[in-house]
Amino acid sequence: MRDRTIDVDVAGVFALPLRNRFRRITVREGVLLRGPAGWGEFSPFRDYDDAESVPWFAAAIEASHEGWPEPVRDAVEVNTTVPVVPPERAHDLVSASGCRTAKVKVADPRSSLADDCARVEAVRTALGPGGAIRVDANAAWDVDTAVAALRELDRAAGGLEYAEQPCASVAELADVRRRVDVRIAADESIRRAEDPLRVAVAGAADVAVLKTAPLGGVRRALDVAESCGLPCVVSSAVDSSVGLAAGLALAGALPELDFACGLGTASLLTADVTSTPLSAVDGFLPVPHTAPEPDLLADHAADPDTTQWWRDRIRRVEATG
Ligand SMILES: [Mg+2]
Repeated sequence: MRDRTIDVDVAGVFALPLRNRFRRITVREGVLLRGPAGWGEFSPFRDYDDAESVPWFAAAIEASHEGWPEPVRDAVEVNTTVPVVPPERAHDLVSASGCRTAKVKVADPRSSLADDCARVEAVRTALGPGGAIRVDANAAWDVDTAVAALRELDRAAGGLEYAEQPCASVAELADVRRRVDVRIAADESIRRAEDPLRVAVAGAADVAVLKTAPLGGVRRALDVAESCGLPCVVSSAVDSSVGLAAGLALAGALPELDFACGLGTASLLTADVTSTPLSAVDGFLPVPHTAPEPDLLADHAADPDTTQWWRDRIRRVEATG
């Protein structure tokens, strides 16, 4: 339970434009908190209710008031993300990224399975045989569709590293996992689970995708990693560099880290709250001890109505938690 005597200092509300639409949004908004340990980001998506936003608040308080556990590594390998684009564009994005691992979005309504396979083939050409390709279906398939699609995509990729959340439910993931040779990663199933352990117990996944804010902070995510007993990948929620620093703190503190993480997302934003953004160099990011200083907050402040909306929201969520 959070210490009620903590004085929450809202330093400002940011609005950062995205390069491409993500989750039907074009601007990433959130609040920055300042505290004795540094800076914290509170940025649950607008469609999340107050109860669902409580762990995001806990993560921001941890970052700003408590700080993070000591890391066991000082750099984290990250993947590049390939959106639903034509094969030539996918090839160019991967070649320019400097990453050895690519996550390819599949199962989008704008893209057929043949399109998805062509995109994956182009990514393999760009990465070469030593690279790793994972696909993310964002829970779009039913079991039979997932089984058929993953067999084809695995062939097109010359071997997939894993497939992220092919179906929505834990039972469906377990079914797909029994029927294909591709590793299954649980993302939405971990984030929304009352009990993330259930994913492992059900035999539903080989890999767990962890995000610090929806899990309630770095320490809580480390507990989830330990209790589920699966290899973990840390991903962002397309945070500013202040939020990304928490993801890097988690990736830095995990006892084992066998896969590249989804933390190279600063490039998805056209601006950041800091002049020292956490942008990947040659596919790696450093593990920071605190979040970077948000010296550009004034330049990217939200308009007054948006700012008021977030100030009201954080008061409600604080009272809920
Ligand atoms: Mg995902």
